[in-house]
Parts: sequence; C-alpha cells; structure tokens
Amino acid sequence: MEPLIATHDLKKVYRIGKVSVPALRGISINVQEGEFVAVVGPSGCGKSTLLHVLGGLTRPTSGKVLVDGNDLFGMSDAQRTRFRAHKIGFVFQRFNLLPTLTARDNILLAQQIGDGCNPHRFASVTAMLGIVDKLRYRPNEMSGGEQQRIAIARAIVCEPKILMADEPTGNLDSENSQIVLNMMRAVNREFRQTILMITHNPAAAAVADRIIRMRDGHVVSD
Ligand code: ADP
Repeated sequence: MEPLIATHDLKKVYRIGKVSVPALRGISINVQEGEFVAVVGPSGCGKSTLLHVLGGLTRPTSGKVLVDGNDLFGMSDAQRTRFRAHKIGFVFQRFNLLPTLTARDNILLAQQIGDGCNPHRFASVTAMLGIVDKLRYRPNEMSGGEQQRIAIARAIVCEPKILMADEPTGNLDSENSQIVLNMMRAVNREFRQTILMITHNPAAAAVADRIIRMRDGHVVSD
C-alpha cells in the first residue's frame, strides 16, 4: 500500500546570520493511512521542525515530502496552501480558537472555509468528542480540556487525510490530558483518522500505535 506520508533523507538547516543550525539531519519515514504515530524526543531534537515540514509550513533544505502521492514542495505556495486546507488538520498546544466566537462558530468556520466539506459531519464529530452541550460557550467560558476538544473538532470536521497535533496536551493538567488523549484515540479508531502527534508526555505516547523517537535531528528508533 502506498504510504500517506513519505519522506526520504529529509534535511532542514536553519540559518541565523552566518550560523547554521541543523534541525533535521536525514529523516526517512513512511506513515500509512489510519496510523496513530507519536513523535517523541528531548527538547530541541527537531520534532516541531519535522511536523512543520510534513505539514507544508516549513520548506526543507533538501529531500522530498510526499503526502497522498503529491510532492508537497513541488507545488506553488498557493497550491500548497489549498492542498493543506483540504488534506491536513492542525491542533496546537495553545488551542488557537477565535475568542469572540462560540465553540459552534469556531467549528463551523472551518467548515465554511473547507469548500465541499460534508455538512453532516458536524453532528458526528461533536458527539464523538463529547462537546454537544458546550457549543454555545466562548473559549474563555470553557476549561482547557474542553477548548482542546473544540480545536480537535475544528481540525477534523472537514475530514482531512491527516490530523497533525503539536503538543496537544502541553497546556493541560493530567486529568484533561488523559481525556483529550482518549478522544484522539477514539477519533483514530472510529473515523480511521491518521494522526501524527509530537509530544513530551509519556502518557500521550502510550496511546499511539507507533512511536518515533528522535535525537539531534535523527530518528533513533521507530
Ligand atoms: P523540538 O520540537 O524537538 O523542541 P525544534 O524542531 O523546535 O525541536 O528545534 C530543533 C532545532 O532547530 C533547535 O536547535 C532549535 O533551536 C532550532 N530551531 C527551531 N526553529 C528555528 C527557527 N525558526 N530558527 C532557527 N532555529 C530554529
């Protein structure tokens, strides 16, 4: 089966003036459709850079990224932006909900932006994430765990091929972390949602099917 994400010898060097900072030193990985993958490793090992490159947000210095058979950095910027909007949902540590909108409108906004988005998906996603009774609240009226569940709903409501999560439990206490992780596990199982999650949290890594460990810009175990 063709992998959903494929990279070969992916490298990224940041340049700050005359200083070069190697962040990825040759990463070759494949992710299959339906997998729940956690990327772990010490701070500074390149996890966020990897996620940003795989998500089309940061251009690698060398190497290719194929997502669903498409060469992500062979496209124009406009093509890549459109491709990303259709194929990839993002969840961040800081939730990034719009503060003036209710939970419902935060999720619906994603549905309006994603043209061709299935309108019936809203009900199944909000039910699965246990947030139906939170939909009329604004972000500052909800707990961190509730806000993150709204952010997950927003990320998956248009059925992206991949959900990318950047430290999704980084701002949550252990109880809310476990709730959010269990929800991500359920989303992976019920919707066969491919998930790529970077994390420091051992409990977060424990819910994934596969753990990729990084150190100094390399994959050290998979
Ligand atoms: P992690 O997510 O594992 O903490 P990062 O991908 O954030 O690791 O960082 C990997 C390396 O790249 C670190 O040395 C970091 O300082 C450097 N780095 C990350 N982002 C930038 C950037 N925008 N500019 C320069 N250096 C960066």
